[in-house]
Amino acid sequence: MTNVAKVINGKLIASELRAETAVKVENFKKEFSKVPTLAVVLVGEDPASQVYVSTKSKMAKEIGMDVEDHYLDVTVSEEKLLEVVNMLNNDQKVNGILVQLPLPSHIDSRLIIDAIDPIKDVDGFHAINVGRNSIGGDLLDKTFTPCTPLGCYLMLKNHISDMKGLHAVIIGRSNIVGKPMAQLLLEESCTVSIVHSKTKNIEEMTRQGDIVVAAVGRPLMVKKEWIKPGAVVIDVGINRVDNPNTGKNKLVGDVDYDGVAEVASAITPVPGGVGPMTIACLLKNTLDAALRQEKSK
Ligand code: NDP
Repeated sequence: MTNVAKVINGKLIASELRAETAVKVENFKKEFSKVPTLAVVLVGEDPASQVYVSTKSKMAKEIGMDVEDHYLDVTVSEEKLLEVVNMLNNDQKVNGILVQLPLPSHIDSRLIIDAIDPIKDVDGFHAINVGRNSIGGDLLDKTFTPCTPLGCYLMLKNHISDMKGLHAVIIGRSNIVGKPMAQLLLEESCTVSIVHSKTKNIEEMTRQGDIVVAAVGRPLMVKKEWIKPGAVVIDVGINRVDNPNTGKNKLVGDVDYDGVAEVASAITPVPGGVGPMTIACLLKNTLDAALRQEKSK
């Protein structure tokens, strides 16, 4: 009989996390008589970024947060963008600042990210927060973990209670997904391998994984032959491809879902896996930011 992997339902786990955060938002409002507030900065009119930003804003409002949208023209100067970030850093009402990436090529993204006050850096991309995530231990209470790997981690925790000693293979080494994912799993005492575009014999590596996290950006790249029977597979990829049946676009992950589901023990779907968790973790980070700012007064 063909194995059919359990579906790790990111949509459901995310809605539970949002509900938990909504309760904490209510408590925060009662205790401090203010509303946790997320400032979202979007430069330009990239359609995918517009969708991400409006979804994040909508969900934040749904759980009782305030959202300030700052939409800037694609031609905005680096200096002006820095001014906006500084203004938000100094605004007592704003608890979390999210600058939607990618930024236009005339702007140095690192400069902008590192201009955000680390205590408001709810994406967890500031060099100080990256460093704290890397050191781990007690510093994890003082940092913000990037939302996508945090979402993947929470889904794994939901499925595997003890990850100690498991071999996790991460495909992709980006600063926003692959590297922080590796740190989170190291913190759980997994044995972690990261593979990337220059890795030789990538399938041999992924076949050793008890956990495989694919964060590549290549539609359906990970095939069933790449996966050890019984492995847990997290698909971070969001790729838009033509759907020949409808003539429209459809979203697929980096994992060939149908094939891999025949060998894996559990797998996240696309859509409905990592995507909703990323947003739920952003809201969690924003509430944490508000609480930390109140405590530091
Ligand atoms: P990046 O482009 O920054 O990184 C991709 C990584 O994949 C790089 O490390 C690259 O290697 C590696 N890679 C590329 N081609 C291959 C290959 N043929 N074999 C092995 N490794 C390869 O992407 P991100 O990390 O930002 O995103 C990855 C995917 O996740 C994308 O599809 C993105 O849309 C999606 N994503 C989804 C989110 C969500 O909320 N669900 C959030 C963020 C991203 P090298 O470093 O050598 O170039």
